[in-house]
Amino acid sequence: MLSGFAGGVHPSENKETGECTIEVMPAPKKVYIPFSQHTGKPAIPLVKKGDDVKIGMKIGEADGLISASVHASISGKVIDIVDHPHPVIGSACSCIIESSDTEEWVKEVNAERDPASLTGKQLVDVIKEAGIVGLGGAAFPTHVKLSPPKEKRIDTLLINGCECEPVLTADHRLMLEHAATIIEGAKIFQRILDVQNLIFAIEDNKKDAVATFKQEGVSVAELKTKYPQGAEKQLIKAILKREVPRGGLPMDVGCVVHNVGTCHAALIAAKYGRPLIDRVVTVAGDGVKESKNVLVRIGTPVKSVIDFCNGYVSQPERVILGGPMMGIAQYSDDVPVIKGTSGILIWNNARISEEGPCVRCAACVDACPMGLMPTEICGFVKNKNIDMANAYGVLDCIECGCCAYECPAAIPLVHYFKYGKSEIWRRSKK
Ligand code: SF4
Ligand code: SF4
Repeated sequence: MLSGFAGGVHPSENKETGECTIEVMPAPKKVYIPFSQHTGKPAIPLVKKGDDVKIGMKIGEADGLISASVHASISGKVIDIVDHPHPVIGSACSCIIESSDTEEWVKEVNAERDPASLTGKQLVDVIKEAGIVGLGGAAFPTHVKLSPPKEKRIDTLLINGCECEPVLTADHRLMLEHAATIIEGAKIFQRILDVQNLIFAIEDNKKDAVATFKQEGVSVAELKTKYPQGAEKQLIKAILKREVPRGGLPMDVGCVVHNVGTCHAALIAAKYGRPLIDRVVTVAGDGVKESKNVLVRIGTPVKSVIDFCNGYVSQPERVILGGPMMGIAQYSDDVPVIKGTSGILIWNNARISEEGPCVRCAACVDACPMGLMPTEICGFVKNKNIDMANAYGVLDCIECGCCAYECPAAIPLVHYFKYGKSEIWRRSKK
């Protein structure tokens, strides 16, 4: 069993939806599709108010190298293009589509073809056209990750099925219900990158998924359950014993990492020409009547997904998109599910403690998987000493939340680190 990285924490897993098979949510009456759902520049709108659209139609074109296209997830009419609440950046230009209830697809989509008939370059183009981004949460455009510079020699492709965030089970279910599709998608990535080594990384709290993938005859690294085992740098350290340098990327140590959901989406695009119009989301928490894993159209408002899960237990106290460790608290359930939304968590009895003074216990230092000194960095950010925060490596912080999880003073450390990073970027832009 591999564990292999320093730091990390062991929060309660609470993966009660692990047994819940994926349910397909019917198309909602309206979707709110942001042009920015990914790392990089927002897509450029291709439609205007009043246009008719069909499912799979490209409505936003990737702008530049690091960007991703977006597509209509229902058929109907564009009723507005306007700023709308966004789960990550607060508000973003979004295409609002009202359903025609006809569920019509654009005609080029859904015609089956053999991905083996396409070259590596054609497959990268297909994946780019389909607007596929990393579905593990970071939403980095997949076609960029599949096009490393020539001087970077890649020898290993890791497929990340760790799903180390507590509560979330969307990837787990996908691995159990669609293993063959994931493997086929991973082999497409393997062909594009021309690598020998293909390894599926799965935590040992998903024994059934480990067994399923082993039965399929692929190489599986079974990893000890520890958060954040699924973070790229920690995964590479645990499996390959390679250290991604400070400020570096997995490709600097000959490795590329993709999430299992991304492999699934890529195969669907390569085989059927289907763009990314939906994703699996875990809906859970004590504030929702029925916890489920749901296949949701991109752009569906969170409140519609909750309705599909029989509604709220009562007025929700906290709505979080993502997992409990790295997820983002929302002010409104009007926000839509976007490509990077892995979970919708509704909490009614969340323990929210008052921030106290640092007691210098160093629990945060022991927990940090990046070897940082969270308490020192936090002090620098609080005192607006951004240069020192930078010197102490705030940009290396992966925002995993281990430090804040362990902090007995309930200091929202990640909040300070996000602010420190944004200040560094703001100054560098200047
Ligand atoms: S959030 Fe940042 S500082 Fe805190 S434990 Fe994670 S990597 Fe370390
Ligand atoms: S865990 Fe919290 S209280 Fe302890 S040293 Fe770190 S910041 Fe201070």
